[in-house]
Amino acid sequence: MELFRLGIHEIRELLDKKEVSPKDVLDSVFSRIASVEEKVKAFVTVTKDRAYDMLDDALAENTILSGIPLAIKDNMCTKGIRTTCSSRMLENFIPPYEGTATSRLRGYVLAGKTNLDEFAMGSSTENSAFHTTKNPWDLSRIPGGSSGGSAAAVAADECIAALGSDTGGSIRQPAALCGVVGLKPTYGRVSRYGLIAFASSLDQIGPITKNVRDSALLMNIISGHDPLDSTSAPVTVPDFTASLGRHIKGLKIGVPKEYFIEGMDRKVENAVRDAVGKLESLGAIPIEVSLPHTEYAVATYYVLAASEASSNLARYDGVKYGLRVEGKDLIDMYMNTRAAGFGPEVKRRIMLGTYALSSGYYEAYYRKAQQVRTLIKRDFEEAFKTVDVIATPTAPEVAFQAGEKTEDPLKMYLSDIFTISVNLAGVPAISVPCGFASQEGGAASLPIGLQLIGKHFHEQTILQAAYAYEQATDWHKRRPEL
Ligand code: GLN
Repeated sequence: MELFRLGIHEIRELLDKKEVSPKDVLDSVFSRIASVEEKVKAFVTVTKDRAYDMLDDALAENTILSGIPLAIKDNMCTKGIRTTCSSRMLENFIPPYEGTATSRLRGYVLAGKTNLDEFAMGSSTENSAFHTTKNPWDLSRIPGGSSGGSAAAVAADECIAALGSDTGGSIRQPAALCGVVGLKPTYGRVSRYGLIAFASSLDQIGPITKNVRDSALLMNIISGHDPLDSTSAPVTVPDFTASLGRHIKGLKIGVPKEYFIEGMDRKVENAVRDAVGKLESLGAIPIEVSLPHTEYAVATYYVLAASEASSNLARYDGVKYGLRVEGKDLIDMYMNTRAAGFGPEVKRRIMLGTYALSSGYYEAYYRKAQQVRTLIKRDFEEAFKTVDVIATPTAPEVAFQAGEKTEDPLKMYLSDIFTISVNLAGVPAISVPCGFASQEGGAASLPIGLQLIGKHFHEQTILQAAYAYEQATDWHKRRPEL
């Protein structure tokens, strides 16, 4: 049996029945990494030796995750293990502490740290300072981003599941483009302690998995208030697996007209409309809704995210940790360090953000963007007065060719047109596979994602709908040929 193909709950069952040993699972995953990683390049660091060394300790924890190999996006601090954020700035950074989300994954075995766009800024992983990750369905294409390494590792079966982070779509968009399940929790649901900050009012950690059940399972484990993160919400965490398998009869599904736009890929639109039809056949009630401020979301996000990034990234000054490049005096050292340590996209964001926050411009840009953010949030509040869930495409198109958008940042920014509003509003959303677009010339078909958006702290409802959809379809069973 190819154990590496399985998800968390399937492996757990085999381990509990003693049909396989934890060492079999590790052997299977690491031999898979050995055979496909050269093509996919999902990881910055593979932690094979450590995984075997830690296995006994992991098993002693005796949890659901005991002995199960997971991959973690390389912007989450792992104690004693290099955490780079795919940046030269942190190329040799070894965190002295463990972040909360990963420390809650008691018993798991780290397969490795996955590649991302530098500091999570990007939609293709092409902004990694180290290498570009490939889409396992078509190696000439990108896996999405910024959690492209995590999504590709899950899709290529190089791990059993993974964690990513999502500031404007970075879990959901790569999950969609790689044909796996990605969930961005409600802002405040999961502690961000130990997540290297990009835009603090938007960042959330969440699971990237092979199926919806595993997503719920990981949500159970990583969610909950944490005194070490003042933005984590003191709300109770339900058992997210409890709503799986419940019927969705009468569930009202909003379909926002602003999310089916001119210029989007027709194959994506058709697959998503079919998915809504499928949900309807399962008893859900589709209702057209409007999110009228959607067209301002990308602009609003890029003012706010860049502003917050410019402030967060001020800490990389060559003094405290990370890269240091000497200079003739202190200012010179700062400049040399930041010039050498940051890549072009990160520099662009820092400049944009610094400009938007500077006196004389603050009112026109940052303040205005905050006001529009409120309008976007109200759009969702209004829509959720009549519906339980909102269904949209996750991304406007399937995985694009490597290099296709690198020369034009605006084109790249538009990859997140359907995911960004969710972060601005702080609501949860999941992407599940909902079809494949065939390509010309016999090349492999490419995955399409359905996004289901929920009310604040109602992850259980989107998981329930996603699970019902998944169980009624076969998309999640397809695997890329590698
Ligand atoms: N692609 C978006 C950006 O470049 C979102 C990234 C993310 O969610 N981390 O900012």
